[in-house]
Amino acid sequence: MGAILLDGKALAEEIKLDIKRRVAEVGAPTLAVVLVGSDPGSAIYVSNKKKACEFTGIRSLSYELAEDTPEDELLKLVDELNMRNDVDGILVQLPLPEHICAEKLLVSIKPEKDVDAFHPYNVGMLSIGRPVFKPCTPAGVIELIKKSGATISGKNCVVIGRSSIVGKPVSSLLLAENGTVTTCHSHTANLAEVCAQADILVAALGKPRFITADMIKENAVVIDVGIHRLENGKLCGDVDFESCKEKAGFITPVPGGVGPMTIAMLMNNCLKAFIQ
Ligand code: NAD
Repeated sequence: MGAILLDGKALAEEIKLDIKRRVAEVGAPTLAVVLVGSDPGSAIYVSNKKKACEFTGIRSLSYELAEDTPEDELLKLVDELNMRNDVDGILVQLPLPEHICAEKLLVSIKPEKDVDAFHPYNVGMLSIGRPVFKPCTPAGVIELIKKSGATISGKNCVVIGRSSIVGKPVSSLLLAENGTVTTCHSHTANLAEVCAQADILVAALGKPRFITADMIKENAVVIDVGIHRLENGKLCGDVDFESCKEKAGFITPVPGGVGPMTIAMLMNNCLKAFIQ
């Protein structure tokens, strides 16, 4: 194997340990976690977030609402949490059932409690280069790149995907680090050629093992945001790890790469919400 593995699990543990120390010094933030319905994927994410709260000493309040909870009722709960002085962060697990407008919900969370950083205010602050909270998965991507020791400044950075929760904010954060950023999407022409120019490649397109060795530059830093469960029950990312690990300089595994970093960054935002 040519590439050095970027171990997101280990880095996330380091970050959570540091947060635990800081919580012991400054006091415990409180995170309210709201789950609507019984989507099994969401239930696992929520349970992992609660575990991370327990580990770091962050207090978590859990609200598990029925699938058919009316939108008004959810908005009312968010409003109550917005007003409570003992609640620092509010997280509403996405996706929401279809009868609830996610946009309406995200706007209803007070920006200073918006630890997912999905509120348009926080999106705007990020895009003008003055982030209050950094969205968790994109912030985790940047930490992993930094962990490789690579400088982002002046490098060709290619992000595949332009979603609001991953691709676009990753591009904004790379720009803020002075990278030369190309954001690719489903209409990008000559994707393989664009990717092959990347010193830093971030794959967030949601297609299993799409990025193959011929699409990456020798010694590139390759960050795989994708997560897919295969028929055999195993997990894989958007990057064909087996072929790319021979050519990349650094590469994240799936699982154990970006996933654990997302939760560590969430804990970091909770602490920030408490301190600010
Ligand atoms: P999305 O479906 O909202 O966006 C996918 C993006 O990829 C779109 O902008 C689309 O234009 C682009 N795209 C799709 N096919 C393409 C192609 N063939 N060529 C070029 N671009 C293409 O997905 P998302 O929510 O941004 O998530 C992306 C992946 O990251 C998914 O696998 C998701 O499960 C994963 N994810 C992981 C974490 C984590 O914590 N590890 C968090 C969020 C998302």
